[in-house]
Amino acid sequence: MRAVQLTEIGKNLRGADVTIPKIGSSDVLIRVTAAGICHSDAHYRAGISKIDRLPLTLGHEVAGRVEKVGSDVRNLSIGDRVCVHYLVHCGTCEFCVRGLEQFCRTGQMIGKHRDGGYAEFIKVPAANAFPLPDEIPFEVGAIMMCSSATALHALNKARFKADESIAIFGFGGLGFSALQLARALDCGDVYVVEINPAKLASAANMGAVPIDARSEDPVDQIKEATAGKGVDVALELIGSAKTMRQAVLCLAPLGRAALVGLTAESMSIHPYTELINKEAEIMGVSDHLAAEIPALIEFARSGKLRFPPETLRVVDLDAVQINAALDALQDSIAHVRTVIVPNSDS
Ligand SMILES: [Zn+2]
Ligand SMILES: [Zn+2]
Repeated sequence: MRAVQLTEIGKNLRGADVTIPKIGSSDVLIRVTAAGICHSDAHYRAGISKIDRLPLTLGHEVAGRVEKVGSDVRNLSIGDRVCVHYLVHCGTCEFCVRGLEQFCRTGQMIGKHRDGGYAEFIKVPAANAFPLPDEIPFEVGAIMMCSSATALHALNKARFKADESIAIFGFGGLGFSALQLARALDCGDVYVVEINPAKLASAANMGAVPIDARSEDPVDQIKEATAGKGVDVALELIGSAKTMRQAVLCLAPLGRAALVGLTAESMSIHPYTELINKEAEIMGVSDHLAAEIPALIEFARSGKLRFPPETLRVVDLDAVQINAALDALQDSIAHVRTVIVPNSDS
């Protein structure tokens, strides 16, 4: 089969002719019909995020049709439409049995620790393949399995509930999903903090109150808009100590700040006046859980989570086109996701 692989760190991906993977008794073989090209893939290619073996077929945002099923697989049949949860886990360790597979000691991420979806076929454990309703296009089924799933996990971690107000710091892919999911959960007012005018306009179009962080301190703006109270939940999706601190400072009493963006910077908080006084909470958010995927699929099926056609761009399973898409990701600001659709031009 055809695959597009990372063969050397810091170099372009290359097309390869590889063997179709043999499946075990609990696996399925999926014919890939859509694979999202993600920022993380650009980081693997550049060597910013470490991967442990080469060559590697990238691609952790995958949807397709079941081509073969292992002898023990009961929940899926040949021809089923599926989307893939990217964390392959043992299912039996102390974390997996509690449904916390992101801490599985032998967990492997598809497209990082094992071959991913930049290929005609992918092998995954059947437990990682979720039925994809007909209403959800394959392209959406692929890309929602990364940033949208993580945005939902962040809302769940923050115990976000109906009528609560929320501040979303950063309106990239995560923020785009977080806003829609917050609304699907019947949120109160939503504040989107950004410095990019196009993103602020887009957030306003989607019903959020845009907070332009260039003009004035976003914490002051949020406090002013909430009559001094602050918000119930803040999601930090940027990965900067400055905005993380702002996410904490804009909280109302009993507010929760969920930190999703990655940074190695230190953040300073004054415990008494900024945290203890209002019994605020700060929590870390890492990836998402298989148990959250059915709810995510239902939000997409019912149209509450949408990726309109103008936000999707399709390329073929072709190294030149994929490398160009990865290059463009570095400086992209638009909410446009590129999806590989094998044989898209045929
Ligand atoms: Zn991704
Ligand atoms: Zn485990």
